[in-house]
Amino acid sequence: MILTFEQALQTIKEKLSAAAPSIPTETLPLAEVFGRILAEEVFADRDLPPFHRSARDGFAVRSGDFTALPVTLKCIGEVRAGGYFHGSVGQGQCVSIMTGAPLPDGADAVVMLEDAQVEDSQVIFQKPIRAFENVIHKASEAAQGERVLSSGQSLGAGEIGLLAALGKVSVKVFRKPLVAVLATGDELVDMNQKPEWFQIRNSNSALLAAQIAQAGGIAQIFETAPDEKTALRRLIEQGFIADLLLLSGGVSAGKYDLVEQVLAELGAEFYFQKVAIRPGMPVVFGRAGEKFFFGLPGNPVSTYVTFRLFVRPTIRALSGAPFAKPLFLRARLASSVSRKPNLTTFVPAWVDSREGVPTVDLVKWQGSGDLVGLTAANSFLVVHPEQAHLEAGDWADVLLVDH
Ligand code: AMP
Ligand code: MG
Repeated sequence: MILTFEQALQTIKEKLSAAAPSIPTETLPLAEVFGRILAEEVFADRDLPPFHRSARDGFAVRSGDFTALPVTLKCIGEVRAGGYFHGSVGQGQCVSIMTGAPLPDGADAVVMLEDAQVEDSQVIFQKPIRAFENVIHKASEAAQGERVLSSGQSLGAGEIGLLAALGKVSVKVFRKPLVAVLATGDELVDMNQKPEWFQIRNSNSALLAAQIAQAGGIAQIFETAPDEKTALRRLIEQGFIADLLLLSGGVSAGKYDLVEQVLAELGAEFYFQKVAIRPGMPVVFGRAGEKFFFGLPGNPVSTYVTFRLFVRPTIRALSGAPFAKPLFLRARLASSVSRKPNLTTFVPAWVDSREGVPTVDLVKWQGSGDLVGLTAANSFLVVHPEQAHLEAGDWADVLLVDH
């Protein structure tokens, strides 16, 4: 049975959530958690901001003084970030204030410097002001005790900044999943060997290791498996030590495509063995015992695309994040495109801004073996099954490669 792209993703999502593997956690220093998935709830240890904070350089004033313009106030002092005003702003008074400083008692707004005219100790204001203008209210970002981050959230630079602001110097995160990589094919030699004219270097193991690292997993590369059952079986059994096994090659219909046969002999259950996508139609997903596996087609761009579409979300889920389908963005087509109908097709493309409009154009590409073409792309144009033909100027879906 052949699944649609959407059905294949849905299948993976359901199988992973039904298995709900418990993921071990570890506590690491903040400097080591970038890109990891949070495994605890994080609460504000104090109000954010901890005081009414000035958002501008200017004058702290009482908005009640601004009934008739212009307003002239007496400047009675100064407050800067890192200090506080020892006293209170009374009627007819103001205090010079810097960005980040706490609003003095009595004041309820800040007039920015550009809107004030200083004459000795007098300041003249021409414009009206509302209460709390240019002031960030105490606790407006989060109140003390409020949850600010949840388990399952990805820790990017912003999250790390927030954790630092809360004084959270060590953080509980999920362990990275171990992902076994097993390339198959009699034609393959190791990348540091010189191939005979009829051989090719194994590039998929290195390619997959990079994609695994980017997805948040740890790659474990196995020796290349020949197209021979006994050796293949031995290596597949070893590969199941990891949290997830990725095989490349040997999943098409050829006489020496033995991956599925060997997996079946090991008692594997197959959830799909074909998806209506191009490249990557023969992609396989299943489970043997506790462990999930993917059989990825061996053509390097097929390997790349099927990883990006199906394996990346799986690794994220095995890292503790919610399952997330690949996100497509929209761009305008630079030239017309025709593709075989009834398939979801991913075509290497370049997307950039032309006259302010995101625009996508195809790159020179020879098909699913063409890594040179792939490296000229920063995205894939997504042609949906019902979209056999798209015109220049049409809006189309785009998958960014580094997203
Ligand atoms: P297969 O999926 O085994 O039928 O392989 C399809 C194509 O991908 C063939 O041209 C293979 O030589 C090539 N291929 C398979 N595995 C790799 C690999 N690990 N590195 C580079 N090319 C590969
Ligand atoms: Mg092969």
